[in-house]
Amino acid sequence: MLRPAVVSLLLSAVATAQAPAAQNQGPGYTDTPVLPNGWRVHDAARPRPRVVDPGPAPSQPVPAPADAVVLFDGRNLDAFTGRDGKAQWALVEGAMESNRTGDLETKAHFGDCQVHLEWATPAVVKGESQGRGNSGVFFFGRYEVQVLDSYDNPTYADGQAAALYGQTPPLVNACRKPGEWQTYDLVFRAPRFAADGALREPARVTVVHNGILVHHDQPMFGATAHRALPSYRAHAAKGPIKLQDHGDPVRFRNFWVRELDLDRSADAAPAPASQPAETPGK
Ligand code: MG
Repeated sequence: MLRPAVVSLLLSAVATAQAPAAQNQGPGYTDTPVLPNGWRVHDAARPRPRVVDPGPAPSQPVPAPADAVVLFDGRNLDAFTGRDGKAQWALVEGAMESNRTGDLETKAHFGDCQVHLEWATPAVVKGESQGRGNSGVFFFGRYEVQVLDSYDNPTYADGQAAALYGQTPPLVNACRKPGEWQTYDLVFRAPRFAADGALREPARVTVVHNGILVHHDQPMFGATAHRALPSYRAHAAKGPIKLQDHGDPVRFRNFWVRELDLDRSADAAPAPASQPAETPGK
């Protein structure tokens, strides 16, 4: 049996070991389910990524490459549907802005793809944590790369800008100031399902935020969920990309997509020509 003095020493050692985690306590949860990576969903104690200044915002939008599908170039919302069918976000200074009329979805559907888009949260800061400049890019309408004003805005690590929401924080916080244009360059590999609907390969995402790599080929645990575990349900090989209207006026511009074939089926080697059987003994 341990003597009281030893127990007391052990307890103080445990308290010391827990001190750094306790310093990370902030917005977040302590009662949510545990993800496969060992953290709780929106874990209040999960370390928040360090801040990296990405440098000044680009003065001009990045031009779309020749083989891109341009979804928004500042002129109209023709590429999208909205609540009750019609996209109703505001068109403001060459950008489209969420205005509490519901999420937008692309009319075109995509599987594996590369996405470029630019976004800006309101220059006049209102709210805090998840209530500040919240939006999101949802592949297949269900796998979210978070959009948030994460500039000097503490929130739970898996909910900040460029997080795979509720699953994986970005490697660093590369957020620019409110009102400044920010870029996302995303590579999405769609999940693969077997004929019986079982998951064969999870979705994977690479995210470059303001020119800084923040996720590299990161597997997703399933469709995005709030305060709940993500999970997969089989779906078609292609689906829409959704932009979230979370109630905050977030602007987007210069949104284009390049369709990819990450299985490189066009590069498959031809089947070997049949060889005449070898005649033994010659
Ligand atoms: Mg969001």
